[in-house]
Amino acid sequence: MEDIWEVKKAKCECCGMSEECSEEYIKGARHRFWGKFICGLCGEAVNETTQKNGGKGKEALEEHMNECVKFNKIGRSYPALYQAEAIKEILKKASRSRSARSVTPSDEVGLNKSDTILRSSSCIPAITRGTINNVAS
Ligand SMILES: [Zn+2]
Repeated sequence: MEDIWEVKKAKCECCGMSEECSEEYIKGARHRFWGKFICGLCGEAVNETTQKNGGKGKEALEEHMNECVKFNKIGRSYPALYQAEAIKEILKKASRSRSARSVTPSDEVGLNKSDTILRSSSCIPAITRGTINNVAS
């Protein structure tokens, strides 16, 4: 009787987390996310992706749901593997940004290599080079 707001346990359709929500809130969330109920955290992630992909909210939601389902499936049966997968993702991202940044150093390595090839392909034997050095000095 005292509960004016009927609180329901709503399960996020992304990550599966249950939240206690008023029916109004659930309705609002479903309306916002194309009939799906997703928790606040997932909603935020979807909003962020929507901003990044130029306002394609439904695509952002689908993308986020796929990610969550994938991780939940692995995470529930193999928690250790889930962590390994998460770490792998982080490493992948890190190495990607690292390789993008290392363009200049690797170019330098390439230059040094071709420099060595040029020098050695000048066909002057070591002995002759020594002679030239002697002559020069
Ligand atoms: Zn969620």
